Amino acid sequence: MQNQFFVAVVGAGPAGLFGARELANAGARVVIFNRDVKPGGLAEYGIYFSKHIMKEGLRKQFHNVMDNPNIDYYGNVTVGAQGDLSLDDLRALGFQAVLVAAGAQGTKWLGLPGENLTGVYHAKDVVYSYNKLPPFAQKPFRFGRRVAVVGAGNVMVDISRFLLREQKVDEVIAVVRRGPAEVKFDKKEMEHIVAYLDPSALDAEMARSTPIMQAVGQDPAAAKAAILESLPKAEAKTSDSRFRFEFLASPVQMLGDADGNLTQIEIEENSLSLKDGQTKARGTGVKRMLDVETVIFAIGDKVDESFGLPVEWNEFVKSTTPKFPIDNISFESPIEGVFVGGWSRKASEGLVGYARKDGTNASRAVWQYLQTLSPTDPNLEGVEAKVNSLSKPIVRKEDVKRLEATEAEEAQKRGLEEFKFDNNEDMLNAMGMTMTA
Ligand SMILES: Cc1cc2nc3c(=O)[nH]c(=O)nc-3n(C[C@H](O)[C@H](O)[C@H](O)COP(=O)(O)OP(=O)(O)OC[C@H]3O[C@@H](n4cnc5c(N)ncnc54)[C@H](O)[C@@H]3O)c2cc1C
Repeated sequence: MQNQFFVAVVGAGPAGLFGARELANAGARVVIFNRDVKPGGLAEYGIYFSKHIMKEGLRKQFHNVMDNPNIDYYGNVTVGAQGDLSLDDLRALGFQAVLVAAGAQGTKWLGLPGENLTGVYHAKDVVYSYNKLPPFAQKPFRFGRRVAVVGAGNVMVDISRFLLREQKVDEVIAVVRRGPAEVKFDKKEMEHIVAYLDPSALDAEMARSTPIMQAVGQDPAAAKAAILESLPKAEAKTSDSRFRFEFLASPVQMLGDADGNLTQIEIEENSLSLKDGQTKARGTGVKRMLDVETVIFAIGDKVDESFGLPVEWNEFVKSTTPKFPIDNISFESPIEGVFVGGWSRKASEGLVGYARKDGTNASRAVWQYLQTLSPTDPNLEGVEAKVNSLSKPIVRKEDVKRLEATEAEEAQKRGLEEFKFDNNEDMLNAMGMTMTA
């Protein structure tokens, strides 16, 4: 159809999909380019694999978006300076605006000695792997008997849940920079691991933390009660594994053996101070070693610095004087016509509902920007020719449907609640495609 606005959306996570829907419903012609074969982003490949009902519910909503006739989908296509298509390519194809909703794909490291040892991982790699996202699903992991997970949020809990319930490791130690009052996980998530929590280890940590907490006006008893709030609904244990916290502790370095395998993590004890009503952790100089074979950093993500947009403080730069703010938030990159939404706007912020709202609002900003331009004749043939010229298989809406139908059949055959192919080759086979298009 002639006279439509023509918009590219990069990424088919919740932000990209709901952003695309917003624009399509407003009348724009939208093309989604997605790195992964399947849509869903972290809703598919981040949310814990056994949350079947939640994931199925989200998939239904995503199918709905994908069925919108104003939206095209190209999966297995990476956009970026080193991707299959650059932002300049998108412009050359006639897209009048680009919404970047590619999540936060960069890996946040603390830059500590020993991060390259075997057994040291970033949470996202582990999460992508147990959720069967290629190529992470093929990556070997060394999950030893004792594991330190650095972090205090829901991702730390998800990883610990996997280690305790699936890997059945002997011990998981959550290394938390600040104190018991600053943990960030939800009670609901804690229900899955609280049965593993060693009560005497918690008491010892509370005793160690109490004077530091009291010095900044915190209530240790209330913090302990909050951590244990999930106990009445504790999920039964599947092993004798043990879970404990090391509060007020920051990793300093990881040490390994001659073969490059992790053997220890050194932590430094922290004290707390108050600044502008916020507690800050400060190293005390007191250091200790923990014997562990695996360390997993669950400290949040950052955007992909190689994408081709300017980055500052782990985030894509947003205009500080946006022309189209929504709820006082800037979704505008410094590059004219390029907008950011979801975890690409604010890395590791919020749950699916937040990403959905953020993607939708980003699209409202895009729509306002489009009103300053004239509608065009969307160059769908040009886009089709361009993606066909890429030397790789391209996944379209109907292919995704075929893949999901095959996986559903496979799950039924195997008597599983869910089945996913864990590599691109099997996925492409299921869609009747081959690795070389
Ligand atoms: C471990 C973990 C567990 C979680 N559990 C829950 C939960 O239980 N409940 C809940 O509500 N929320 C949960 N979340 C949060 C939720 O997953 C996120 O809020 C949401 O997925 C972020 O959406 P997004 O669209 O911004 O990014 P993402 O979901 O990351 O989607 C990004 C999309 O962009 C694509 N992409 C990336 N780079 C490119 C590129 N260069 N070119 C093209 N495409 C690209 C990716 O393939 C992906 O499809 C969890 C998150 C994590 C990490």
